[in-house]
Amino acid sequence: MALAHVASLRSEDPFRKVGAAALDHDNRVIATAYNGLAPGFVAPAGFWEDREKRQKFMLHAEVNLCSLFKRGEAKIVATTTMPCTACMQTLCAYGIKEVYYRDDYQQSDAPEIAETYGVKLMQVADFPHA
Ligand SMILES: [Zn+2]
Repeated sequence: MALAHVASLRSEDPFRKVGAAALDHDNRVIATAYNGLAPGFVAPAGFWEDREKRQKFMLHAEVNLCSLFKRGEAKIVATTTMPCTACMQTLCAYGIKEVYYRDDYQQSDAPEIAETYGVKLMQVADFPHA
């Protein structure tokens, strides 16, 4: 969770910074990621000022994270905010077995999706800070 937090500091989004970290089956960290724009995209002037307008372009931390490994390679994901519905679906598709999050996200169906697919979803509010 501490690694996910540090990754979130890289996010350029002034409203919501989300970080995530993935561990493999030997508990080795194999990826960290954060919410942001597609690789190589340079935001035009004023882009960060309108949250509603930019929201659809923001790639969520969990999606960016999953782009860094193959299905089945990661077992555990830690993320600073509870995955949204689409990200929880993505984590399930990648075969993630355990998901730990720090902050609640009320509009998410993640708890129901995790329960249905047998994925452990647990809030971890206490973690070592730098
Ligand atoms: Zn998401």
